[in-house]
Parts: sequence; C-alpha cells; structure tokens
Amino acid sequence: MDKKGILAVVSGFSGAGKGTIMKQLLEEYPGRYALSISATTRNPRPGESHGKEYFFVSKEEFERMIEENALIEYARYVGNYYGTPKEYVMGQLNEGRDVILEIEIQGALKVKEAYPDTLLLFVSPPNAGELKNRLVNRGTEDTATIDSRLARAWQEAQGVEQYDYFVINDDLEECVQQVHSIIQNEHARAARNHAVIENIRTELKGFVKGD
Ligand code: 5GP
Repeated sequence: MDKKGILAVVSGFSGAGKGTIMKQLLEEYPGRYALSISATTRNPRPGESHGKEYFFVSKEEFERMIEENALIEYARYVGNYYGTPKEYVMGQLNEGRDVILEIEIQGALKVKEAYPDTLLLFVSPPNAGELKNRLVNRGTEDTATIDSRLARAWQEAQGVEQYDYFVINDDLEECVQQVHSIIQNEHARAARNHAVIENIRTELKGFVKGD
C-alpha cells in the first residue's frame, strides 16, 4: 500500500455528534489518525481551550492567515470564519497518518476540488427531531443560535449527495467502527496503489520467459 495517509473530511449537521465520534476514533486507534485543529473567530464554549478544540483567533489574525495562504480552505459559518491550517495537515499526511478534517460542507467541497482524492463522509443523527434535541440538550447555545444552526442544517442537507459516504450516528460505537472501516478500506483502492502495482508488474515481467 502507498505510504501517504488519506485525507478524510467528516461533515455533519451541527449536533450530529461528530466531535464525540472523532474523539473516540482517536482513542481507539492511537497513532493512526491525526485530527486537524481549525482556526476560528467564534468565541470558545465553556471547557474549550486554545490549541485543543480550535485556535481561537481574531478576525484580523484570521484574515492575515488567508492572505498568507496558510489555510487549505476556509468558510463563513453562522457569522464566523472557520479554516484549516495547511502545514499540519500536509506534514501528517506525509508521515503516513490518515488526517481527518471536521469541517462544514462549503469547506469540504473546496478541499475536494483542490485535492480530488479526498474522502468525504457525512454524519447524521437518525432523524431531525433528534438533531434538535441534541442541540438543545448541549446547552451551550442560545435559542437564536440554535435556530440559525437548524436553518444551516436544512441548507446543508441539500448538498449531502456530493459526499462519498453517509453515516448515521445512532449507536456511537457502531458509528465509530463504520467510519474507521470506510477510511481503512480506502487504502486498498487500486488508484491509491500505483507504486505497488507497478512493482508487481515489473517483477512479473521478469518472470515471463521470452521465446
Ligand atoms: P462549531 O462552532 O459547532 O464548533 O462548528 C461549526 C461548524 O464549522 C461545524 O460544522 C464544523 O464542522 C465547521 N468547521 C470547523 N472547523 C472548520 C474549518 O476549518 N473549516 C470549515 N470550512 N468548517 C469548519
């Protein structure tokens, strides 16, 4: 198999449980995955810290990163900027780790455009009512923000067919295993194994007796 890691994007409606899935995946398979940490201009939620969930930056700092071409992609989401720093992602891929970007749909499509072999996964709760419950129960956003996030979810639902996989997060552990299998199976795709295939061809050619 080729040594380079796979770039996988995981998107999903706000409240779909992406964060929990990613945390579990990293815990269960230490060293195999690297999770990209995004930069954002939104305020930290209680319990979040700089450099862990996000790099929390000012609008000016974010705009400087855009100018310096330091981001793979960026998007605006419910009034704030969010973007993926380039250096870390490229370094981890080169070291053979599968890198996961947990980003929204606009960013996902931009990444796919720039790097066409990106794997796009969309995570959804089993139904919309469950989504609303999770957002309300999280208790970190006011009603207006929850409403904006639900409106945004409706918009994002229109673009789901552009993803490679659609995964339902009903049972957390099942969902984590499904995400893991999808990404690992991707390593076996013929198009990702040019170098090995070429080697075997060359060796086989050596076995063919000329007449
Ligand atoms: P939250 O504010 O709930 O942490 O994130 C809001 C949305 O922004 C989520 O859908 C999340 O996946 C997305 N997001 C987080 N980081 C990035 C990023 O670097 N780029 C883009 N395009 N979206 C991001």
